[in-house]
Parts: sequence; structure tokens; C-alpha cells
Amino acid sequence: AKKIVIVGGVGGGSTVASQIRRLDNQAEITLFERGANIAFSNCGMPYFIGGTVPVRDDILPDVEKFAKKYNVDVRIHSEVTQIDRTKKSVTYQNDSGKYEEPYDVLILSPGAHASVPPIKGLTEQNTFTLRTIPDMDRINAFINENNPQTCAIVGGGFVGLEMAENIRDRNIDCCIIDHSEHVMTLVDSDMAAHIHDHLDEKGVQLFLNTSLDSFANHGRTLHLNNGKSLETDMTILAVGIKPNTELAKQADLSLGETGAIHVNEFMQTSDPAIYALGDAAETPDFLTGAPSNVALASPAHRQAYIIANHLHHTPIRYQGALGTSIVKVFDLTVTSTGHTSESLKQTSFQFQTVTHEALSNAGYFPGAEKLSIKILFARETGTLLGGQVIGGKGTDKRLAVLATAIKGGLTVADLTELELGYAPPYSSPKDPINIIGYKAVDALNKN
Ligand code: FAD
Repeated sequence: AKKIVIVGGVGGGSTVASQIRRLDNQAEITLFERGANIAFSNCGMPYFIGGTVPVRDDILPDVEKFAKKYNVDVRIHSEVTQIDRTKKSVTYQNDSGKYEEPYDVLILSPGAHASVPPIKGLTEQNTFTLRTIPDMDRINAFINENNPQTCAIVGGGFVGLEMAENIRDRNIDCCIIDHSEHVMTLVDSDMAAHIHDHLDEKGVQLFLNTSLDSFANHGRTLHLNNGKSLETDMTILAVGIKPNTELAKQADLSLGETGAIHVNEFMQTSDPAIYALGDAAETPDFLTGAPSNVALASPAHRQAYIIANHLHHTPIRYQGALGTSIVKVFDLTVTSTGHTSESLKQTSFQFQTVTHEALSNAGYFPGAEKLSIKILFARETGTLLGGQVIGGKGTDKRLAVLATAIKGGLTVADLTELELGYAPPYSSPKDPINIIGYKAVDALNKN
């Protein structure tokens, strides 16, 4: 039987283990995870802190059950520290010592770590990042034990925005500090304005074009680059992540332009016996083919499927990621797929944009909610390149339609023809997606 060793047991690692088992009941699968948990939902952590998910174990599957269900030799608290490619073995370390484990195939899904900029005065006591379960537990314990009244969140990406809502749910005042001119760089600035207004309504103060210079007073005073200071009881740093590439580097595997692990279309690294996936891997952008490092759960799951099939002699090429994302910001759903105006400016595409303000469904039907939609498309052909939808109910549906349309290579004219299903509680006879299609066709005709 083939001996498969997996490094990392969460988003990519546990998924690839279960996918391999579905196709091959002979393979010997060993999974190393340096933490205490596997197959858990990173994505659920903010909601445990906020209390929406009240039971900690609900985001933490039982290790034994997983091991038994998929017949995987799971070794938690075991960190892989070295790869010997000539011997085809890994060295791992746990509480009782250092050991070696041979492999025929090695799969790396070590994820990423939260960036912590070298800020003067940073203290461990009341400053946090959120990437792992111990991070989550530290934040939760700090809130329970210290009853903080204020929290500063540095970084307005999806983790920062989700934490703003969850921190408010704990009755803690919070503000967001971001060095950009708008939060959530996955949407254009005109769309981000909706998020800014909503944060304002929810009492979250925003400091844009602002960065944190230093901490003072044991992490309780933040000196900002605009000369002002803020007093806070706790700070969450959500300024981005970096792929975990130490093992790959040490084993002399190629890294890509983004700094993540280079892989081919079957997710093989520069050593064909070693695969990589998830946040640590560099994959092509779906539209441009440019190297990208998308740190989201669904690409990791797709990549796991591709690896399992490749090992099972069914080659399926990974087509690249669109980076479709969705995030809840209090009562607003914020979504994007494909490219933004900023990212398209880095490509050779000549593009155009159209926006549309709509209602989720027939206005006379109770409960209709506002939606703002923006699409980005090629000036010559009308091919869709990006979509952003922000609003209330039905936002996720329009995002999903746009993401599917981009994947299918559809044009704005195709959007006018989609039959998306109408009854007053759900939509209008012309869905907002049809209407934005018509608007875009008009715009193209005027060129
Ligand atoms: P991970 O899931 O992070 O797993 C990597 C694992 O490898 C870690 O457990 C680590 O301990 C282990 N490891 C690393 N090095 C070693 C070693 N040398 N030896 C042994 N073990 C090792 N994505 C979405 O699509 N939607 C969301 O709503 C969403 N929300 C998120 C919220 C938060 C707070 C965070 C942090 C992430 C969120 N993500 C979300 C991102 C998503 O969780 C990741 O894209 C996904 O988990 C990636 O899987 P991965 O296997 O690459 O990395």
C-alpha cells in the first residue's frame, strides 16, 4: 500500500485525507498536526468569541472519530520539522522526542500564520491575533477575565470586520484602524463606502489612511501615524497572513512569486512526490493565470480533491481561483468575486464598470432589502471580470450567480438572458442581475 504523509490537519490537510480515503481504501495515511485539533472550522472562531456559536466543541470535531471514520493515523501535538527528500522521510517532534516517518507521497498543507508587524511596545498581555484555536481561547479568556470596555482592531480585512461585529456582540466598544483609504480591499472604494456607513451606524469608529506606530502604557495606548493616540483595553491585529513555507524552503522546494509554495496544475511541488495545497500554495489566478495566493477554504477543498484524484490516476487540472469571498459585517453581507478595479489596473484588460442599486425582491412584498451591485467587464467583449454585491438578504445569491458567470466565461449580454426564478418574496421579474446586465450592454453600446 502507498504510504501517504500529510503535514497540517485543518482546512486542506484533513480534507485531502478524507478525499484520498474515499478513493483508496488501501493507502496508509498518516496526518501530522502540531496543534491539538484537526478538521476544525477556522471560520467559526470569530462567532465563538462573539457568542453566536456558544459551544466551543461545536467547531472542533472529535479527533478519534475522524481518525476512525477515515482510517487515518492522526498524530496531534506533532510538528514536522524537516523533510529528507532523498530518503523520502520526514522528521517530527512531539512531547516524547524526535522521530522519523517514511513516505511515498508527502502532502503539505501547513497553512499560514498571522502577520505581526514589529511594532514598538507590543505586549503579549492584551494584544492578539486570530489564526489558531489557542489564539481564539486567549481572546475569549481575556474578555472573560478582564471585562474590557474597548478594543482596537488593526486591519479592516475579513477577519478584522468579522471581529468588529463579534466584539460588539460582547458589549465592547470597538474601532478599526486601517492604513488604506477603505476597508475590505476585495471591493472597490465606492462599494466600500456602504461598509463604512454601516460600521458608523453600528458605532464602530473607523480610522482610515491611518496606521499604528507604537504601543505605550503596557499596550493600552496606541500611537497612530497621524500624531493622535487612542486608549484601549485590548487590541486585535488582523493585518494579513503569510504562508508557512519554512519546511518547503528547508527542503529546497521552489517557491513562487508570491512567496507561497510553487505547484503545477495537479498541485505537485517542484518535487513530484510532494504536493502542496491551501493557504501555503501558489496557484494561478483564474482569469489572468498570474500567480496568486488565495487563502480561502473552498479553493483548499477543491485542491484536496485534485490531489486525491491525481494519486488515484485521474488527473484533473486545477483551473485557478477566482477568490470569491463573502463576509458578514453586522446586518450587511459583503461579497466579491474575480477582479476589482485596483487589481484589473495591474493587468492588460481594458475594462468598464457598471453599478446598480436594487431591492432583493418585489418592493411591495414585506422584507425587501437593499442590494448594491457592481460588475467589471472587458470593454471589447463584455466578458465578466469581477462582481461585487453588498446588501441584505439575497446578496449571496447574486454573488453566486456572478461567480458562476465568470467561471463560465459569460458576458454582460448573457446576464440579461439568465432566468433566475421569480416570485415576489425572492426577486422581481427582471432580477437585479438581469438589470445590471442590461445597463452594461447599454454602456458597451455607447462606446
Ligand atoms: P489551515 O486550515 O490553517 O491548516 C494548517 C494547519 O497546519 C494548522 O493547523 C497548523 O497547526 C498545521 N501545521 C503547520 N505547520 C505544521 C508542521 N510543520 N507540522 C504539523 N502541523 C503543522 N475562509 C473562507 O473561505 N471563509 C471564511 O469565512 C473564513 N473565515 C476565516 C476566519 C478566520 C478567523 C481565519 C483564521 C481563517 C478563515 N478562513 C476563511 C480561511 C480558511 O480557514 C483557510 O483558507 C483554510 O483553513 C486553509 O486551509 P490550510 O490547510 O491551508 O490551512
